[in-house]
Amino acid sequence: MKDYNLKKMYDMQQYQEIIRLFNTFQEEKTDELKLYTGFVFTKMGMATKAIECLTSINQKQFYQYIGKIYRYLGVSNYLLGKYDMAQSLFDLGTEKNDKESDLWNKLLFPPLDDIRETKNFIFHFVDKISAVDKKLFILKSIKAFARISEFIGELNLCKKIDIYIYSQRQDSIGNSLSYSDNGLKVIHTYLHDVKGHEIAHILFNSIYKNMNRNKFIDEGIATFFDDENTFIEFIRKYKSALPNLDVVQVWNDTNLILENVKGIYYYAGAFVGYLIKTYGKHKFIEFIQNENYDNAQSLFGDSLDFTIQNFYNEIV
Ligand SMILES: [Zn+2]
Repeated sequence: MKDYNLKKMYDMQQYQEIIRLFNTFQEEKTDELKLYTGFVFTKMGMATKAIECLTSINQKQFYQYIGKIYRYLGVSNYLLGKYDMAQSLFDLGTEKNDKESDLWNKLLFPPLDDIRETKNFIFHFVDKISAVDKKLFILKSIKAFARISEFIGELNLCKKIDIYIYSQRQDSIGNSLSYSDNGLKVIHTYLHDVKGHEIAHILFNSIYKNMNRNKFIDEGIATFFDDENTFIEFIRKYKSALPNLDVVQVWNDTNLILENVKGIYYYAGAFVGYLIKTYGKHKFIEFIQNENYDNAQSLFGDSLDFTIQNFYNEIV
């Protein structure tokens, strides 16, 4: 066990390797191994296991990490829907001078004007919003959830989706809105942004435990499912907004150079709609476990080039 530099492995993000060690050393797991495995489990959203690891160690010996331990326990408890527990843990982390614990606290537990709960959501109304707007927001969210989950089929969400609603374009710690945290299943949204975009991010990212995500496809999915559209309807609406791009180039653009091209999200949405139209729902859902171009090539074979050519014809 002494031969492994766990800190280095963790810093180099060798998470699977750490889990493998954790599973190998059955009896003689050291506290250090439990600590780093607990961090890894937290990052992977495996909340119950993370809590098991991080609470079974003598935390005092890791005094330099104590704030981080509280913060990770806070995140894991939040993921299990144990909100009070999460908040106290973020408080403890803050007391130990962990700045990120303080940020989580401000972001997830801001003073609220109102809170509402439905079957699949908890709505945290941060700013004061009129009763009519609140009702409309809740109804639209429920409708989008129903529409998207019907497309996906079976869903296994570990908790309700927490939506924080603001009347300005900034969350409680200054991030610009709107965005989703797929790991925590949390959405922070500007009141008037609501439709399906962020809900689609959360639901599609809950299908598989491990996914290889790709920005072009991921945003394409969220944009296509923002509203109820077929591919034809989507094209009719946004044709004039579509830039002239090379699909393979934007798909492989891991440096996100093209991220600021005007209309890129609509372009991605159109392409995702066309993939669904061409290959059908089941094949599409199979594909998104690994959203990269290389995977699409091996899954769809030679037909992919043909599909991309046809897509160009459809959007001109
Ligand atoms: Zn998005």
